Amino acid sequence: MFNQLQPVPTDPILGLMTEYKADTNPKKVDLSVGVYKNEVGNTPVLAAVKKAEEYRFNNEQSKAYLGMAGDVKFNELMTNLLFGESDAVNSGRVKTAQTPGGTGALRVAAEFIARCNPSAKIWVTNPTWANHISIFNAAGLQVEEFPYFDFETMGLKFDQTIEALNKVPSGDIVLLHACCHNPSGMDLNIQQWQTVADIAKKQGFTILVDSAYQGFGHGLNEDAAGLRLLASQVDEMIVCSSCSKNFGLYRDRVGAISILGTSSAKAEVAFSVILNVVRAIYSMPPAHGADIVATILSSKELTALWHTELDEMRTRINGLRSFVVNKFKEKNVPGNFDFIANQNGMFSFLGIDKEYITTLKNDYSIYIVGSSRVSIAGVNDSNADYLAESLAKVLN
Ligand code: PMP
Repeated sequence: MFNQLQPVPTDPILGLMTEYKADTNPKKVDLSVGVYKNEVGNTPVLAAVKKAEEYRFNNEQSKAYLGMAGDVKFNELMTNLLFGESDAVNSGRVKTAQTPGGTGALRVAAEFIARCNPSAKIWVTNPTWANHISIFNAAGLQVEEFPYFDFETMGLKFDQTIEALNKVPSGDIVLLHACCHNPSGMDLNIQQWQTVADIAKKQGFTILVDSAYQGFGHGLNEDAAGLRLLASQVDEMIVCSSCSKNFGLYRDRVGAISILGTSSAKAEVAFSVILNVVRAIYSMPPAHGADIVATILSSKELTALWHTELDEMRTRINGLRSFVVNKFKEKNVPGNFDFIANQNGMFSFLGIDKEYITTLKNDYSIYIVGSSRVSIAGVNDSNADYLAESLAKVLN
């Protein structure tokens, strides 16, 4: 059975993580993996999470099966967190199911789309999170790219985005990042979301919004503004969300898939298909992480604590963006990196060639993904000088 198999290369980002762990250089810097890190380079458990876990430990009554949709309270609270005060939600057109992480939500979405239309093409931004392509391919769906990020200007090429979306037919899916675009850090502004909504209505394609960083860009409501605009205007949409980053629950695997239907009854039917998809993949999601999120979001006190902690993470990342730009200037890193300060979330491209990235890893123990994407949260006071000085040496 197994003899004919060929080894599959490890995911380049996870491969770098392994190399970084094995590196003994005390000055090593990891800018590869998309995990929030605090000032001393740790990814701590949030205090709100710890308190909710304590509550769970003392109050959990049963470990009996939850059901395919997972934790009903979590689903309701996540719906509100994503969609806000919304007619779509009030009229019962939105249904949400808990999933194992944002990846689980996307995988369920992929199977669901294949049930709706097996020949649907999934249109993704160029570039996008690499796993998007694998996830949709795994469900037998074809993935196509549309122009999005401009490596010349380090901004959007929105004219080309519009041109491409104007050719996407009804029956296809367009995948947009709700905020903090991974890997470019470049998001649509609200006028651009409106333009996309207008094109979607004209063309009849369906939008899938991937919300993996709500609260990491400008704030919980601000980061959902595009998604909410769409929900108030389009007939149908899919939202895949993740609590990995904003609740720091990475390894607990918490996320959700939400669908907006043309009516409550239509959403109900679509949701039954989602649950059927879930049953055949993992039957039901794990309880722990979703219960923690539900406990936080249903307590005023824990929600306030979580907001404070989320604000701290966002403020730190945004502060780091300007800090990095200034540090690069101070150390005479050649080139203009001002764009980093204007982008959102954890990632930006440095826009430097692969050979420099290899030299930075081999000679300086600085780990950056081959595309030149850096995770800004990997920078701190103690490694910023070394990072900027090394970059200046390599690029000069
Ligand atoms: N979508 C995007 C854009 C992401 O960056 C990530 C995480 N890297 C995910 C989805 C999936 O997150 P999770 O860890 O919850 O599966």
